[in-house]
Amino acid sequence: MEPFAFSRATDAATAVKAAAAASTAQQGAEVRFVAGGTTLLDLMKLDVERPRQVVDINRLPLAEVESLPDGGLKIGALVRNADLAHHPLVKRDYAVLSQALLSGASAQLRNMATTGGNLLQRTRCVYFRDTGAPCNKREPGSGCAAIHGFNRTMAILGTSEHCIATHPSDMSVALVALEARVAIRGARGERVVPAGEFFLLPGDTPHRENVLEPGDLVTHVILPPPHPGARSHYLKLRDRASYEFALASAAVVLAVEDGRIAHARVALGGVGTRPWRSPEAEQALQGRPASSETFAAASQAALRDAKPQSQNGFKVELARRCLARALTTVAAA
Ligand SMILES: Cc1cc2nc3c(=O)[nH]c(=O)nc-3n(C[C@H](O)[C@H](O)[C@H](O)COP(=O)(O)OP(=O)(O)OC[C@H]3O[C@@H](n4cnc5c(N)ncnc54)[C@H](O)[C@@H]3O)c2cc1C
Ligand code: SF4
Repeated sequence: MEPFAFSRATDAATAVKAAAAASTAQQGAEVRFVAGGTTLLDLMKLDVERPRQVVDINRLPLAEVESLPDGGLKIGALVRNADLAHHPLVKRDYAVLSQALLSGASAQLRNMATTGGNLLQRTRCVYFRDTGAPCNKREPGSGCAAIHGFNRTMAILGTSEHCIATHPSDMSVALVALEARVAIRGARGERVVPAGEFFLLPGDTPHRENVLEPGDLVTHVILPPPHPGARSHYLKLRDRASYEFALASAAVVLAVEDGRIAHARVALGGVGTRPWRSPEAEQALQGRPASSETFAAASQAALRDAKPQSQNGFKVELARRCLARALTTVAAA
């Protein structure tokens, strides 16, 4: 059995250097960061994740939420989900983010889970978590047990013949609708990536879930200033009222002027292989009257390209209704 190493990093440069020694990228890498541990340790216990070295990043100075001069917000990667959800500026200016965070997991988990860890949580596909089943995401080239298996909770947007796993994060759906950016520090310096481009489609490489390279540390999430006059909302539909992942969810940001939609941003959760921004829905909303007919048209547009599997056809109509209701709620607020 391979020797296992655990270390604590006290500065970002040491953490990045340690992780850059891995020959593979963050997902499935031999050297992994641990933050709250609520995904990584679970998967290590299941033998799904087998890092050779784990670097604890909890002592890095990345646990602050700071206002930016332009009116935006800079959120450290180690800000706990509970602290972020209850932050007064998040509740006031980015309600969709607060609501998305509070709809996820349980109070205890939200006290541990971090902003960076939430972005990088892995799919809840049952076959991914079962080392006895073929899974291209866990073992590239082994096959996908879900396509002809239990696929009720799987994705209907962005799937490929190699993987149909749903992206599980609620927070990330809100971040995509808010047009957040992800700040990354790596072996070759710092860069900032729009949240919508941070997550990759499965294609024929479902084991690569995001743009991180070996050594890359997510340091912050940056929110742009709130759009003038806009309101936002997150609606999550699931099998039970708490402690459950989304079957369908909608994050919407809407500004209405003189009865017409002046600004619309839409993202869906529970139905996509990544947090699913819908330019189709946004186009169907822009400049239109804020009416039930417009919201129904936007919901149809958002699901136009859905490809359901044998057990999850119900998600198409569920997601349409979820989006229409979220839009109705925010327009009436
Ligand atoms: C029972 C249960 C129910 C849940 N329900 C929901 C739900 O309804 N909705 C939802 O959205 N989530 C849910 N979750 C998932 C939960 O939100 C995540 O487990 C949590 O957000 C992960 O954060 P963490 O800090 O604990 O991550 P960790 O487990 O510490 O890390 C997760 C991954 O991110 C990497 N990582 C962490 N920080 C960084 C960083 N700064 N830079 C680079 N890599 C990093 C780690 O290496 C690891 O790969 C649930 C989890 C459980 C266990
Ligand atoms: S859907 Fe993706 S994660 Fe699930 S078994 Fe198939 S390849 Fe693995």
